[in-house]
Amino acid sequence: MPSEGGIPAGGWLPASTLRRPLPESTDVLIVGGGLAGTALAYYLARSGVECALVERAELNREASGTNAGSFHFQIALHQLTALETGNVRERLGTEVRLHAAAAEVWKTLESELAGPLDIHITGGLMVAETAEELRLLHEKREIEEEAGLETHVLEGDELRSFAPYLADDLLGATWCPDEGHANPMLAAPLFALRASEAGAELRTHAGVSAIDVDPDGGARRFTVRTDAGTIRAHRIVDAAGAWGGDVAALAGLRLPIRPEGLHLNVTEPREHVLAPMVQHIGRRLTLKQTEYDTFIIGGGWPANPEPPPGRYSTIWESAAGNVAVAVRVMPFLADVRIVRTWSGVMAFTDDLAPIVGESARLPGFHTLIATTGFTLSPLMARLLAEELATGSGTIPPEYSVDRGSTRQPTTI
Ligand SMILES: Cc1cc2nc3c(=O)[nH]c(=O)nc-3n(C[C@H](O)[C@H](O)[C@H](O)COP(=O)(O)OP(=O)(O)OC[C@H]3O[C@@H](n4cnc5c(N)ncnc54)[C@H](O)[C@@H]3O)c2cc1C
Repeated sequence: MPSEGGIPAGGWLPASTLRRPLPESTDVLIVGGGLAGTALAYYLARSGVECALVERAELNREASGTNAGSFHFQIALHQLTALETGNVRERLGTEVRLHAAAAEVWKTLESELAGPLDIHITGGLMVAETAEELRLLHEKREIEEEAGLETHVLEGDELRSFAPYLADDLLGATWCPDEGHANPMLAAPLFALRASEAGAELRTHAGVSAIDVDPDGGARRFTVRTDAGTIRAHRIVDAAGAWGGDVAALAGLRLPIRPEGLHLNVTEPREHVLAPMVQHIGRRLTLKQTEYDTFIIGGGWPANPEPPPGRYSTIWESAAGNVAVAVRVMPFLADVRIVRTWSGVMAFTDDLAPIVGESARLPGFHTLIATTGFTLSPLMARLLAEELATGSGTIPPEYSVDRGSTRQPTTI
């Protein structure tokens, strides 16, 4: 179906659809209406699997609608820190193979979903200021090459002529042609729309408050209480992002994740000078110029935790620190004004790897939670849908939901 003016033909999913009564039962119940949950609903419905999604508020209001929209395919600093052991090299290889697969998914997503996602494959640069950082760039490029992700190290005059907007004294940068960005305001709503058209039942204002597990309950063993009523399910997928740990706890599982608030900045528009996304191998920075000529500056600077329900406020030190790194890397930004800052909350796993798949400790309970979840959620949702539809799949065992968790015998 074609789209017009950034809106899919026929419009977005209306509230009248999202607020219908909850079905009495379903095969797969997805908890959470961010990118992970809506993408899974789409891939399941498309495979003919009966599914329902419950969201406590509105779709796409949390991390999936507040993030920077960057595709992170290159290995980042936090992933590299323990590079010394062979094991870590293997883990990084697994992650890069996943990133390369995610790049392929994003390339075809607009045509698959037949709607606007504002995808721009601009390429991405990751810069180095010091000799040690430059060494890391070379080291990570080797791993990326082995795992099938194209990156190149640029140094000296080659870098200066390729990216004249960068500070002259940067020692080098890796260039990844697959990186880029999409619009976080569009991705989950478009998945939700196509999921609903394919037969998924999506409901908002249906926060999950209790999960009872009946080991002898047969095909519909989970009884889930929500603000919109009770639903029975054969299988559950926890796609509740930063609140994924709370949802798992309702079923007696502890997940190795924690919520964290992150800070973002956007500037006034200026002449268009920057095509690729820019990151830093040693400091927290992601920088890109949008099609509206504004610059979005982020990179993992913290926001301030507030009391429940877990909103995070922006902090001056993050705005100042983040922008200082951006100006250091791209001096052109020195007199560009920040016009808005905002924050969002996301799930961090202790090892920064996704937590995806079925719990061996609580069969039928699955999770779909990724840290760089804008980049990875469509791919991870597709892999999990395959597993749920066919009973077997290709999710790396390193992403097991049971790693580091303890089953608390409270609900069964
Ligand atoms: C500021 C910021 C910038 C980021 N930038 C990037 C980036 O550039 N690139 C990238 O790849 N990633 C980025 N991320 C990470 C990315 O946004 C997240 O990993 C991803 O959006 C997670 O999607 P999700 O669907 O798992 O979670 P969410 O989008 O948070 O969705 C979870 C949903 O579950 C719902 N929920 C919670 N509890 C319940 C309950 N009990 N019952 C029902 N529903 C419930 C919530 O209301 C929410 O809608 C960023 C994150 C932040 C915060």
